[in-house]
Amino acid sequence: MAVDLHIHTTASDGWLTPVQVVHKAQAASLAGIAITDHDTLEGLNILKEAGYLPSASPVIVPGIEFSTDLPEHEVHILAYGMDPQHQELQNYLQELIRDRLTRVEKMLAKLTQLGYPLEYRRVRELAGNAKALGRPHVARALIEKGYFLTIAEVFERLLMKNGPAYVPHYKLMPEEVIRLIHRAGGAAVLAHPGQIHNDDIVAGLITAGLDGLEAYHPHHCADEAERYQQWALDSGLLTTGGSDYHGMPGRFPEQLGVFTAEDAVLAQLQQFLHIA
Ligand code: AMP
Ligand code: ZN
Ligand code: FE
Ligand code: FE
Repeated sequence: MAVDLHIHTTASDGWLTPVQVVHKAQAASLAGIAITDHDTLEGLNILKEAGYLPSASPVIVPGIEFSTDLPEHEVHILAYGMDPQHQELQNYLQELIRDRLTRVEKMLAKLTQLGYPLEYRRVRELAGNAKALGRPHVARALIEKGYFLTIAEVFERLLMKNGPAYVPHYKLMPEEVIRLIHRAGGAAVLAHPGQIHNDDIVAGLITAGLDGLEAYHPHHCADEAERYQQWALDSGLLTTGGSDYHGMPGRFPEQLGVFTAEDAVLAQLQQFLHIA
């Protein structure tokens, strides 16, 4: 059986609603999934309201992908199995969502200066019900205006880390996010460590208390997957994996079930979280 522990929905910058994602996961016969939207648990709330239980098939693990920024690196930390009601976590998520709104306004100010004016209202419309606004929503508005043809081109020219229209995220260091995840009863896993392109940072975050490494990710080559899997094993850490599915045309994987991890990674995670 296969699992996918890294999935985005319309609650952040994915294109499918949480309910659509669960249906796709069922169709792909996945044993378990984790909804890991950027900086929000809204997808989980939507599923609860729609009557989905965590123990349903597939098993649904509560998740968040936290965006933390170091001066030269974006560091994404996956949180799994935390208490969604944890007050400090809720307060922090609220701050992140608020900051993402002002961050988009700051990006639009930069874009105007660069000759690509956009209406804030239009970005909000394109983001639909998304709680967590992000660069992909801005990119879509730029494409709609005819400034660029693809999201990849927008990132390359304007929005990549430290690019001309880049605005950093709300400042919280990865170490602080790891501690917050622990206080909320969750497991902290470093997302796509190979994307950081600096294993000294990975080592530092392990020392800071990480519980696992996401070894299996579409952006990792076979060598990286093997290396991070071995590193996790040697350090007594969890190994996790997922597709980073956004349901976005042109972004791999375009279907759920195409890139998965073995169900043993979910079993390990559940054991760690005492929810098996
Ligand atoms: P944000 O939450 O605003 O930091 O945006 C993060 C989102 O942008 C994630 O979905 C990333 O996968 C996406 N992203 C980051 N870099 C690129 C890129 N070069 N091309 C396309 N999407 C990207
Ligand atoms: Zn995303
Ligand atoms: Fe990420
Ligand atoms: Fe992601």
